[in-house]
Amino acid sequence: MKLISIAVPCYNEEEAIPAYYAAVIPVLKQIGIDYEIIFVDDGSKDKTSIIIKQIALEDPHVKYIIFSRNFGKESAMYAGLSNAKGDYVALMDVDLQDPPEKLLDMYHGIVFEGYDCVGIRRITRKGEPKIRSFFARQFYKIINKMSETEIVDGARDYRLMTRQMVEAILSVEEYNRFSKGIFSWVGFKTKWLEYQNVQRVAGETKWNFKKLLRYSIDGIIAFSSSPLKMITKLGISFVILSFLMSITAIILAVIPQHIVFANGWPYLSIILVFLFGLLFICLGIISQYLAKTYAEVKHRPIYIEKESNINKRK
Ligand code: UDP
Ligand code: MG
Repeated sequence: MKLISIAVPCYNEEEAIPAYYAAVIPVLKQIGIDYEIIFVDDGSKDKTSIIIKQIALEDPHVKYIIFSRNFGKESAMYAGLSNAKGDYVALMDVDLQDPPEKLLDMYHGIVFEGYDCVGIRRITRKGEPKIRSFFARQFYKIINKMSETEIVDGARDYRLMTRQMVEAILSVEEYNRFSKGIFSWVGFKTKWLEYQNVQRVAGETKWNFKKLLRYSIDGIIAFSSSPLKMITKLGISFVILSFLMSITAIILAVIPQHIVFANGWPYLSIILVFLFGLLFICLGIISQYLAKTYAEVKHRPIYIEKESNINKRK
């Protein structure tokens, strides 16, 4: 019988876990294949781990991993995925903002429609602070402009994937993980289900502005080297500016008794702007090497194969 695994990151979620468990079990039973739920306790300071262990004691379908401290949701998701044994693996938040009944549609999408992954994306951000929505939208705009990997606006981490896609995600071994980018980077056919934002069932969001900002910067740095390329552009603009200044200086110099040139400081500023331009260009060259080195140390697979009829040599 096929197995479906649900990986659930939890951080200080003592109130949400029982409600989540009660809601997800009927859906899993309805799918009708064998299932496992993997709770990953990301170093919670409340009774999360006790509650998870309690549930696991009563239900052999429930597995758990308890972190030694808080490593962040990305790490918790990675732990869940790498320990899941299922033919289909889902990632899901525990606060019921990811509606469990969507699993049925997701399962249908994979098994009957031939998708490799079915995710959900919010079409509204209702119920979220306006300012947060605004910054979130700007973030998606910026990252999609800068990066070659598409990051879908409103896409949540909630998704069901085939074993093959999970293996591909795990083969991306970089340490600073930005999953929203990795999911898209590995390719495969993804179907998006749309849904309205829902409020969390209990507890409160673990993200504050500072954390979200850091997350955004991580995302941009992991999937784009365009900030580095900006240095070169800045340098080139400075050099061009210094040339324009020189031309102006020459023109002004031929006007007799022009007051500005009495003490020679314009020449000094031309030299300064020019030298800074050169400096930035040199930095830009160094950062190109840095970008390449960065890409190398991430050690991403060179390609990800979906199908082939070649017998692999061992
Ligand atoms: N989470 C986690 N580690 C963290 C922060 C969050 O495992 O350091 C989990 C959290 O328990 C929840 C999911 O990640 O299951 C999403 O968190 P949250 O609901 O706070 O995020 P939001 O839905 O507000 O984006
Ligand atoms: Mg949430």
